[in-house]
Order: sequence, then C-alpha cells, then structure tokens
Amino acid sequence: MDILQKIKKAGLVGRGGACFPTATKWEMVKNAAGEKKYIVCNASEGEPGVKKDGYILEHFPEKVIDGMKIAVDFLSLGNKGKKTVDVKGYIYINPEYYKKFAQKLESIIRKTSPQPSPSQGEGAAPIEIFKKPESAGYIGGEETSALNAIEGKRIEPRLRPPFPTTNGLWNCPTIINNVETLYNVSLAASGEYKNKRFYTINGDCLWTGVYEFSEDWTIEKILKETKNYPNFDFFAQIGGDGSGEVLNSKQLNIQATGAGSITVFSVLKHKPLDLIKKWLDFFISESCGQCTPCREGIYRLLEIIKSPKPDWQLFGELLNNLSETAFCGLGCVVPVPIKSYFENVLANMPGNEIDL
Ligand code: SF4
Repeated sequence: MDILQKIKKAGLVGRGGACFPTATKWEMVKNAAGEKKYIVCNASEGEPGVKKDGYILEHFPEKVIDGMKIAVDFLSLGNKGKKTVDVKGYIYINPEYYKKFAQKLESIIRKTSPQPSPSQGEGAAPIEIFKKPESAGYIGGEETSALNAIEGKRIEPRLRPPFPTTNGLWNCPTIINNVETLYNVSLAASGEYKNKRFYTINGDCLWTGVYEFSEDWTIEKILKETKNYPNFDFFAQIGGDGSGEVLNSKQLNIQATGAGSITVFSVLKHKPLDLIKKWLDFFISESCGQCTPCREGIYRLLEIIKSPKPDWQLFGELLNNLSETAFCGLGCVVPVPIKSYFENVLANMPGNEIDL
C-alpha cells in the first residue's frame, strides 16, 4: 500500500482546525504542475488555549520530521522512484517553540537526512527551520500569512483562490500541514495510527494539560476520564479560547472540533461582559488590519458593549456582517464564541434579556 492509500485508510484530516482531508490536499499538490514544490509544517500554534503542537514537538519530534520527510518523498519521487520534482520543506515555528525545540529538530533533520542516491540525485529534500517573526501573532499562523512570512512579505492573508495547493510558496504548489497532521502521517506510514488525537484541557479544572485519546470520544467523556468534569455550573469553549464555540454542560456529548482544546468556565466565576470583552480584545489585537469589516467592525463591537446601554440589535447585525464580509477566517470567526455563548449559555440563564 502506498503512503496516499495509508493516509486515506487512516482517514487523516488536518489538525490545525480546518479538518481538511490530508490525502486530498496531498493529491492536489502532487497533481499540480511544477518542477519546484514545497511542504510547510505549520508549528505556529497561536490559538490561545491550544498547546498540543508544543507537546508533540517536545515528546515526538522524530515523528514530525519523519512525516515531513514522507511528504517530501511523496512529492519529489515519480513512478519509478526517480526524483522528478525539486522539493523543499520548511518548519514554520513560533518563537517560543523555536527557542525550546529548534536545536533538537535540527539534530534530527541532520541525523535522518537521506544519503544522495543515484536515483534521487544530489541533496535530496532539505528541511529548514523558519522562525515565525515575533510580530506575526495569531494571524501569522493562518496558512497564507505563513507563506508570506517565509517569503519575507507583509504578514497578512492572501486572497483565495488560488489556493496554496497550486500557488503556495513563491507561487509553487505547496502542502501546508499542521504539526499533529504530520505526526499522524508518520504513524499511518508505519501502521501505528490508532485513530487518536490530542486534546488540550484548560480553565476552571484541576488537571489541565495535553492528553491523547481516541478521536471519537465525547467532550464529556474526556472531562470525566481526566477527572476534570466539574461539580459546579459550567460551560465550555471548544477548539480554542479565541475562536472556539461555546457549549453548555448539556451539549458535551459530542466530539471536540477544531484544534481539539476544551476550556472549562465556571458560570459563577465569569461575568458575561468580561468574557465578551476578552474575546473582542483578543481579536482586535490580532487583526492584521487589511480589511475594513474586521479592522473597524470589531472595534465598534467593543464600543457597543462598553456603552452604558448597549445596542444589542446593532451588535448582532455587526457580528453577522463580519462573518459575511471579512476577508479571512479571523474576521469570520469573531461571531463564533460570542454568538454561541449567547445562544447556548446566556439564553438559558434566568433574567437574561439579551437576544442576538
Ligand atoms: S479579517 Fe481581519 S485578520 Fe483577516 S484579513 Fe481582514 S483584517 Fe486581516
């Protein structure tokens, strides 16, 4: 069975949050025309509350490099194992992880570099570590912003289409995969993949941290298994403390989505306006400012909730406008935590009169 079949059989999907089928992305890049192609391992992990990629880089760096090397071979080798495409890999890594893990990653890359063979030619598949600029922030982890960063351009999302699968780094076909995705590729290749994924647990619970469980476990089961299921009124934010969806405690009999984080909030401990302000402050500080709905819209949302008598109708209209008109995913997800918090938590609270 070739690697693509193994990835398909394992049913791997991207673990950066978008859950795009890994095999489909790889096939698209393989089939795209070009003599030069790239593979980027996205280790920027900028979503608050998500720490799984750091955990994987700390505990399983060999697997991540192995996943990259498998991707490089997949793209570079033709039918008869002969090198037909020039491929280069980049590990795009945030400054904190760079400091902690770059040396180890470098040594693994050097140790596992293949010897040039007659069939593959000289200098097969170099992998380079690229430190994400300090100023890149959350938006610097968005895949096309990451490409701009590596190219030395202004760090902001690109217009899509065209997609990176055909027009990625320096306009060449490019696979961009998250750290966990490449880790899983390595497991699938060696037959060790067991349908598991990593979950980061945060918030008002005792045993916070990164755990690995079956990907079909429910959020409720994970909280109970880790002894983090609260005995007080609570709700949870799933898939990131910035962009994740908020669910009430009766809605947790489903699998975790996005980047797989679960953050527990005590109802008593968190005031609604403080929480909404926290989310808006985060998005304001991370907006790249490229488009008006996001740059101005989030600022207006914050103004509304700070006013003595918030205009909730205007607030709801601005949120809808953002999800429909923002240029990239950051602007589009601003309504996700806020609207789901209103719908799933505040709407069930006695005395709440806010209706978005
Ligand atoms: S939505 Fe926000 S982050 Fe995205 S391009 Fe527009 S201003 Fe930048």
